[in-house]
Amino acid sequence: QLRQIAIYGKGGIGKSTTTQNLTAGLAESGKNVMVVGCDPKADSTRLLLGGLAQKTVLDTLRTSGDSTELSNIMRIGFHGTKCVESGGPEPGVGCAGRGIITSIGLLERLGAYTDDLDYVFYDVLGDVVCGGFAMPIREGKAKEIYIVASGEMMALYAANNISKGIAKYARTGGVRIGGIICNSRNVDRELELLKAFAEELGTQLIYFVPRDNVVQRAEIHRKTVIEYSPEVKQAQEYRALAKAIDENTMFTIPKPMSQERLEEILMEHGLMDAIEDYHI
Ligand code: ADP
Ligand code: SF4
Ligand code: MG
Repeated sequence: QLRQIAIYGKGGIGKSTTTQNLTAGLAESGKNVMVVGCDPKADSTRLLLGGLAQKTVLDTLRTSGDSTELSNIMRIGFHGTKCVESGGPEPGVGCAGRGIITSIGLLERLGAYTDDLDYVFYDVLGDVVCGGFAMPIREGKAKEIYIVASGEMMALYAANNISKGIAKYARTGGVRIGGIICNSRNVDRELELLKAFAEELGTQLIYFVPRDNVVQRAEIHRKTVIEYSPEVKQAQEYRALAKAIDENTMFTIPKPMSQERLEEILMEHGLMDAIEDYHI
């Protein structure tokens, strides 16, 4: 049974890094995985491919049109992972969200969604502030969502907003949240804060990914940690995240909270308390 998963989160929170490392873990364990980058930056598959994809789907469509073949837009990366970059419209022209649907539609027509696929991951830009980037959910492509967040207020604010988008389409389209992935920023009492936040949202903290400089070292070499340093602790963390997602059975409709409640939770479990402790 194919699982189509979208990864959302605030820009720079670590969506692409986390997605590629966890898909490397799934691929390594024998799963057949496709990653579809839905960020105009087109860097969602760089670590799996060992460099930026030469051409995005939308670029290819612009030059080749109807004669575009699957081999023009899909490259094979680490452990057989299938890598696609949707790309973006020409800056200032067209809707990036529509571009994502154009890309997915083309992949469908060209037969990319084969029966032997276990997972498709969509790495989607930013928070769902505009309808465009909610497209993979709206169109019923991705039915399972994970939000990458950290203990920083803006990351949780974005995660709460994304949940509003998910809740909106859950009733009509059947999309569910599978959990929050904490990509740690080493904020004080981050684990407790993220657990409380996830619980309030009616979901779970599915995994806590520590911050580790080996991620940057691997990135400079255009590799996931799993490929670059398969033995290090961080590689094990990503394998454990992959396993947690593979074995996940908790899929819910999120219950977004008010701004006031979010700030209360931050006070109760997070930063604010830590600052008070410090003064005592
Ligand atoms: P996004 O896709 O959400 O915009 P990226 O995946 O590009 O974010 O991550 C932004 C930066 O954060 C990257 O340069 C990456 O090296 C760094 N990063 C992500 N996760 C970790 C981590 N667990 N430890 C250390 N650095 C990380
Ligand atoms: Fe851009 Fe979103 Fe508007 Fe599309 S819907 S043009 S992606 S802001
Ligand atoms: Mg990214």
